[in-house]
Amino acid sequence: MIDYRKEADQIKDEIISNRRTIHRFAETGFDLAQTKAFVKETLASYGIEPKDCGKSGVTAVIGEGDRCILLRADMDALPMKEESGLDFAAENGNCHSCGHDSHAAMLLGAAKLLKRHEQDLKGKVKLMFQPAEELLAGAEDMVKNGLLEAPKVDVGFGMHIISGASPVSDVGNIAFVKGFQTFSGDFVKISIEGLQAHGSMPHKGVDAINIAAHIVTALHELSAHEVTNEERSVVLVGKIYGGSSCNTESGECVLEVSVRAETFETRQFLKQRVKEISEGIAASFRGKAIVENVYGMPPMYNDPSMTDIVPGYIRELVGEDRVTEVFSKTGTEDFAYVSERIPSMYVLLGTGSIAGDGIVQHNPSIILDEDAFPLGTAIYAHTATRWLEEHC
Ligand SMILES: [Zn+2]
Repeated sequence: MIDYRKEADQIKDEIISNRRTIHRFAETGFDLAQTKAFVKETLASYGIEPKDCGKSGVTAVIGEGDRCILLRADMDALPMKEESGLDFAAENGNCHSCGHDSHAAMLLGAAKLLKRHEQDLKGKVKLMFQPAEELLAGAEDMVKNGLLEAPKVDVGFGMHIISGASPVSDVGNIAFVKGFQTFSGDFVKISIEGLQAHGSMPHKGVDAINIAAHIVTALHELSAHEVTNEERSVVLVGKIYGGSSCNTESGECVLEVSVRAETFETRQFLKQRVKEISEGIAASFRGKAIVENVYGMPPMYNDPSMTDIVPGYIRELVGEDRVTEVFSKTGTEDFAYVSERIPSMYVLLGTGSIAGDGIVQHNPSIILDEDAFPLGTAIYAHTATRWLEEHC
């Protein structure tokens, strides 16, 4: 068996240097000109041919064969001023406070090692360097632009650093969640059309604000009355606007609604109910509701076909007790677009608590322990190699 831990340790300085370079660029969203160019140049220097995918993603394939595993890293920073005090801190007003710089560098390290052992791979490894994770838009853009085709991808594997949450975040610890890991997030817009009556005939009008009030009340009861209390969900009307003056009925009113759920089924159910309730209430008051899904993303799902075997691969690298199942379910993660389409898994890599416990991702003072990076590289390379060995 190839000793990826040892080989990753041997290129530790290079992984750290790549990470610091990307860290300084600190580009956000889809605007990753320097970051993307650096990733492509580095891949090319390893003898790997990079390909553009979508607005600013990069893919590359290593190995040959029928089956293919996708390894994913994101590359974007956040629009916040860095406060880490590090000598390689970004100076452009953005900050890699979610650690995506380290994800990209660790995957570059894995690319180098996998290329070195390409002849031993039993199938293909597809690398995914994605933009705009923080906008929850980069993975979707890459999927729509053929990420999972040519070559067709069978399974996906992603990683995220976790800092400032000891003991889970201690260097050398790996955590994973079985099943659903993050919430879905949908933005639904409800445009209510009433009829503004004129002069002395208000009874001929249809008041859109009155309809909106009934809809708001009904929507806020949905989670409590129609979703099992074993599952958390949210239907929140976060914004409402309409009407023109205090003494006329309103001809229009708009509600902006956030729908969040833990499972694919509940997400679909709630969105369907928001539509039915809004249209039904509006119709019963002689108005009309137009319900529009503005954007949304599924919850991220760790497939049992992966969670049953991948922790075993990682234990081969770090031993039995460093890999633990956790139950925390937080935030959103746009790797969900991949996990909705192919069996996938996502793990959390401990990167210490140098800046203190509680200073976690998205905090501009976060400092990652770079000693953790070779392990991340080894996990990417070893997981891909072992999955291909057992499935080809
Ligand atoms: Zn992140």
